[in-house]
Amino acid sequence: AGSSRSFSLPADRDAPDPGPESVSIRSRTAAGPLRTPLSAFSILHTAAMPEAKSAPKASNMGGRNNGGAYVDRDKPAQIRYSNISAAKAVADAVRTSLGPKGMDKMIQDEKGDVTITNDGATILKQMQVLHPAAKMLVELSKAQDIEAGDGTTSVVVIAGALLDACYKLLQKGIHPTIISESFQKAVEKGVEVLTAMSRPVQLSDRETLLNSATTSLCSKVVSQYSSLLAPMSVDAVMRVIDPATATGVDLQDIKIIKKLGGTIDDCELVEGLVLTQRVANSGVTRVEKAKIGLIQFCLSPPKTDMDNQIVVSDYAQMDRVLREERAYILNLVKQIKKAGCNVLFIQKSILRDALSDLALHFLNKMKIMVVKDIEREDIEFICKASLSYLTIGTKPIAHIDHFTPEMLGSAELAEEVSLDGSGKLIKITGCNSPGKTVSIVVRGSNKLVIEEAERSIHDALCVIRCLVKKRALIAGGGAPEIELAVRLAEYSRTLGGMEAYCASAWAYSDALEVIPSTLAENAGLNPISTVTELRNRHAQGDKMAGINVRKGGISNILEELVVQPLLVSISALTLATETVRSILKIDDVVNTR
Ligand code: ADP
Ligand code: MG
Repeated sequence: AGSSRSFSLPADRDAPDPGPESVSIRSRTAAGPLRTPLSAFSILHTAAMPEAKSAPKASNMGGRNNGGAYVDRDKPAQIRYSNISAAKAVADAVRTSLGPKGMDKMIQDEKGDVTITNDGATILKQMQVLHPAAKMLVELSKAQDIEAGDGTTSVVVIAGALLDACYKLLQKGIHPTIISESFQKAVEKGVEVLTAMSRPVQLSDRETLLNSATTSLCSKVVSQYSSLLAPMSVDAVMRVIDPATATGVDLQDIKIIKKLGGTIDDCELVEGLVLTQRVANSGVTRVEKAKIGLIQFCLSPPKTDMDNQIVVSDYAQMDRVLREERAYILNLVKQIKKAGCNVLFIQKSILRDALSDLALHFLNKMKIMVVKDIEREDIEFICKASLSYLTIGTKPIAHIDHFTPEMLGSAELAEEVSLDGSGKLIKITGCNSPGKTVSIVVRGSNKLVIEEAERSIHDALCVIRCLVKKRALIAGGGAPEIELAVRLAEYSRTLGGMEAYCASAWAYSDALEVIPSTLAENAGLNPISTVTELRNRHAQGDKMAGINVRKGGISNILEELVVQPLLVSISALTLATETVRSILKIDDVVNTR
């Protein structure tokens, strides 16, 4: 029975002529290329061999017949098509937000919170994606976010275009493995092309670093503030690394603090530590030559482990209880004072009051600034920023017995500053471990703006980090992609062997045009004429011709100072190709119980 259905979908082309019956059926239902030959075959063979009626029974048994051959031969193709179209839908969703003139997305979650963003990774992260293949694209943009930080929209758009190319190649009957292999070859060549068109950059070249940060910020919602945010990002990274030796940047060393109020113009870079907590004792708000202690124990009367009740029967006993408490607290505070501490940070405690009123009273009298409710996750940053990082280690103080002068960090100034009309911040500046950590205070009039500003600054920081990791730049504005398209098309012609290889490699090169054409489309230019003109210029050797979105045309994009790190483009290309290849290799989706 199985032999009657073992024709695979594309097999009709080289199958022997099935006879007159099939011809007549085929011509009657000439609608879709996909369905027609299949129905023609099944009808033909059902008519020819009566036993074939048992086939449905076999396919109920897990799709295998008695002989062990796969019955449902077109299932892999269907799975592939379904995966491709689901993933493409995701790519189409972010396509319009590519580039400086791209659109933004407004995302609403089930609680009603709204996010406005232009960042591909953020859009996809918040999107509710059900299809497993579509989820792969979400992961793809996440991977790009981790690897490079920028280019999270581009990577998804490229993957979408490559999938489109796959779809067409599959329909031509080219085997997925061949497509996958030639894509791999093309991406290897592509990385060479990109590297060849890049130019080295020195970290001392502030101007160029600024330009690349600006390019990244340009395509954000907060783009009009790029002249403020770009220098801030460059300075922040330069402070936390040693430009001569650094091979990477730990972005944990740059703390971004969001504070509602003011405008983005009020954003600032603080060399040191910024806390959003308030000073607990309002008497001491400014301490020069600060000696900072960070404690993890509580300044309040100790409690027993279990619930307890003390019945006090007379005043003398009550006095004694109070006196004991007073003596206990005073002893703690005195030791703190003795060590020379004049700024005290207290970690948040969930067990009991970290700071009793009595302790606060004593500390106030001794002119010690107190900041309580320090979050556990901030401890490490604070230690690195201000405590004795350079001396014995970064340990916060867990017990009063360890409260000694050498555990204290020092800073020139600890001060509570008020931001005109919108709350207060504590700033610790002039720390004794300069160049290790910085803080960026992001201001904005509402939550939407602040959060988008934070994401944009993060992208700009990542761009600089990319340049530290791999000190090379390439032009932006679609120039690298069109150069790739032209060079890879040339390369595809040199590929020997099967014709299919060339076709796939050529389709790959063609797909990369999606970036310039989308940039043009989003900027309101004619995508077809722009891309044709660009291709022409690149074929003639003008490697730096790119889309000038501001003036609306094509020009030397390096002169427009639109530059981006090489790492962003390379990682976008390789990650997108990797994902597309793995989607292509999937031929079945299995659900588990
Ligand atoms: P991504 O999330 O991928 O970084 P963006 O929205 O930031 O997406 O767009 C990046 C693309 O926009 C890059 O291809 C870059 O070359 C291009 N681009 C950025 N600024 C300009 C500009 N001023 N002129 C032309 N192209 C630009
Ligand atoms: Mg960007």
